[in-house]
Amino acid sequence: MKAMVLRKLSLLDENETPLELEELPDPAPGAGDLLIKVLASGVCHTELDEIEGRAPPPHLPVVLGHQVVGRVEARGEAVETFQIGARVGVAWIFSSCGTCRHCREGNENLCGDFRATGRDADGGYAELMTVPEGYAYPIPEVLTDSEAAPLLCAGAIGYRSLRLTGIKDGQTLGLTGFGASAHLVLKMVRFHYPNIRVFVFARSEKERAFSQELGAVWAGDTTDRCPERLEAIIDTTPVWKPVVEALENLAPGGRLVINAIRKEDVDKDYLSRLDYPAHLWMEKEIKSVANVARRDVREFLALSAKMGLRPEVQEYPLEDANQALKELKLGRIRGAKVLKLE
Ligand SMILES: [Zn+2]
Ligand SMILES: [Zn+2]
Repeated sequence: MKAMVLRKLSLLDENETPLELEELPDPAPGAGDLLIKVLASGVCHTELDEIEGRAPPPHLPVVLGHQVVGRVEARGEAVETFQIGARVGVAWIFSSCGTCRHCREGNENLCGDFRATGRDADGGYAELMTVPEGYAYPIPEVLTDSEAAPLLCAGAIGYRSLRLTGIKDGQTLGLTGFGASAHLVLKMVRFHYPNIRVFVFARSEKERAFSQELGAVWAGDTTDRCPERLEAIIDTTPVWKPVVEALENLAPGGRLVINAIRKEDVDKDYLSRLDYPAHLWMEKEIKSVANVARRDVREFLALSAKMGLRPEVQEYPLEDANQALKELKLGRIRGAKVLKLE
């Protein structure tokens, strides 16, 4: 099979072609695995982190890619679910132990033996890949291959972050930061909980205006005091100031959910403004989101189909993966980037 292979870590500014097109032996499915013919593979910021060493894969070479849509080409002898030809998706969670407390409770993203697709196991920047059958999801008919791929990462994590707020219809929700993931959360809320009122905090005037077009009842700057105290807030920013500010806007018993893989140190001193009575007293909570469990992916795909969610995508052939990554890094984001295979 053809694959775009990562053999050594480097900075994209110094090496524009970190991935090499190679001919690799076709992978063979184990007893409980599906062999998937890849149809589309989303390109994610996490792949930049892997290539540039901020989230290095434990072993090289590796095939990246954790937003994969494909067709079942072959099944291991113990596979009971998907049939040959079924269209399936694979997300960041590649496998987990299945027996620990977290796995049993449906939070297998917290499992000590968690393995990630395209990091701990070869992913979708290739013509073929294998995955344990329990970690593949049916793709709703209404979505094309390329539309479904980007939903498997940021969208599913946005869904989990909304779930972790514990919010109920009729309550108030804040979103601090209004990028791609927050847009999706706002759309989900409008569809799923029509009586939740959403308040948005964003630095850019344009983002604030856009959030109100999408149905936010109020939009202000990160440091603006919200007209109401909020039951829950989701933070999608990479910095600390919005965390401190959000805590002040929480209602008693409110929960702040931080949906960020890591926080930058640039404004870490802002944390010294943390004032116990203003920011934490009255049983306020802080919770982070650690990617996704299988339930999030399954439920989010079904919800996307019902909502008629159609992400805007820009397609590249497999061999142009380096180009897609470079454009992602430069922020030339006109829709989600997807490698489209034959
Ligand atoms: Zn991702
Ligand atoms: Zn486990």
